[in-house]
Amino acid sequence: MGGVRASALAEEYGTPLVVYCRETVLARARAYARVDPEALVVYGTKAFPNVALLRLLAGEGLGADVSTRGELEFALRARVPGDRIVFHGNNKSDEELGAAAAAGALVVLDALDEGDRARAAGVETVLIRVTPGIEADTHRAIQTAQAESKFGLVADDAVTAVREARFAGLDVAGLHVHIGSQLTRSAESLLAVDRVVDVALRCRAELEWTPRVFDLGGGLAVRHSLTEAVPEPEQFARDLLLRLRERWTEPARMIFEPGRSLIGTAGFTLYRVGVVKRTPGVVYAAVDGGMSDNPRPQLYGSHYEALLANRADEPVSGIYRIAGKHCESGDVLIDSVDLPEPRRDDLLAVPATGAYTLAMASNYNGVPRPAAVLVADGRAELIRRRESLDDLLRFEN
Ligand SMILES: *Cc1c(COP(=O)(O)O)cnc(C)c1O
Repeated sequence: MGGVRASALAEEYGTPLVVYCRETVLARARAYARVDPEALVVYGTKAFPNVALLRLLAGEGLGADVSTRGELEFALRARVPGDRIVFHGNNKSDEELGAAAAAGALVVLDALDEGDRARAAGVETVLIRVTPGIEADTHRAIQTAQAESKFGLVADDAVTAVREARFAGLDVAGLHVHIGSQLTRSAESLLAVDRVVDVALRCRAELEWTPRVFDLGGGLAVRHSLTEAVPEPEQFARDLLLRLRERWTEPARMIFEPGRSLIGTAGFTLYRVGVVKRTPGVVYAAVDGGMSDNPRPQLYGSHYEALLANRADEPVSGIYRIAGKHCESGDVLIDSVDLPEPRRDDLLAVPATGAYTLAMASNYNGVPRPAAVLVADGRAELIRRRESLDDLLRFEN
């Protein structure tokens, strides 16, 4: 990847290692930017909070979507300008509202009592997050717009929030909607555009207020396996933009908040194969990581493909189960995958692990988190160093 051999990366940086392709990140960012050059594209930082990636994206004119004080610090360290930071969260603390204000971020109000608190913390400009009452076609844990979602405000409350926030002295710039993540089609997102425009129309009629910003969130899926089909970012964003322009004819600026679709397929994880074990049912190949660096199979039932990076062109010899090194049977990274017969010390590459893997990593079983590198033009740059045993013991007394 990026002109660098997997074996050279494993040699220099060790395994497990998350490898990001600079060209892929840039291509995905540019695809969003092309749809509407006037739009603000903010990277959904939680997909992988990383200063080097944020800096790379900021260089392309992107901003950052953050939802905690910690994520804000990553964006600020990467020198993302405050007017390109969108601050979310269903339960922001006063400290977080104050930090968002100090950064000059656009704050997305998520509750009826948040306008007064935001004003008191010094926030000036806000969006109102609308809950459109839509079940996105994705895993329940990452649906965010069903009627009983903990996020946002249903239509009546959203109108109230606009009125009250303006009364509190806030500049209400517009409305926000985000229906979930790993969305493999646009149908529900288009419906969400309709619903958010309905709220805007009500506000215009009832409050004589019109939004100048529509933030349509993120959520586009990436393919993890060959059997999945997902829209391209450009197509997805264009469909949403066209629907909005069709339904809302007054001038308004768009915001997109892609996380996963910017970096998901740009990254793969490189593991070293250890024990290969035959049981009566399956053949296991165990790798030197697992649910501590990628909990998505356990959390969402995610399926991945894999290949032996050092023998990728050898013919497939069977079906294998890829286990991690953690002390529970559920620590299976891939339930079944076609591979040439794996042997100790082979390198296993698992594609499309750039998003929500390291971001959700843990030190379970006392395993230090892996390193991450960015590759391009035959060179690799360390963008997150491997944790050490000292790092693990830092919090102990
Ligand atoms: C998580 C999140 C995103 C990014 O979602 P992806 O699925 O990674 O594109 C965008 N906006 C909000 C409000 C989010 O919570």
